[in-house]
Amino acid sequence: MKAVLLAKSSLGEPYNVEFMTDSGWLRVFCHCQAGVLQRMCKHKLAFIQGDTKMLFDSNQTSLLLEIHSWPEFGNLKAHLGEYEKKLLEIEAAQSVLAKQEKAIKAEFARGLSHGFK
Ligand SMILES: [Zn+2]
Repeated sequence: MKAVLLAKSSLGEPYNVEFMTDSGWLRVFCHCQAGVLQRMCKHKLAFIQGDTKMLFDSNQTSLLLEIHSWPEFGNLKAHLGEYEKKLLEIEAAQSVLAKQEKAIKAEFARGLSHGFK
């Protein structure tokens, strides 16, 4: 199966986001700048998450829902869950590191104010 959704673009012209299935595999390809380099992009993510606000043409809502009902989409949903979980873990770790950085800088600044021996 193959379906093409149009994604909103900040430049005006919509991007084609292709969903293709082939013997159990589901591939998603976006024609935006990041997408053509096979990088993660907001268009692919939005459509995988079922975000209809990213649709350039709201008449494609039913097509987006149809893609989500493809049997191959189940696997992608599981991978999406893992992806989102890992990103949340990274975010939490970054928050801990940011607090540590702030504390170290504050401590050094105090040391500079009070003087080092
Ligand atoms: Zn894209």
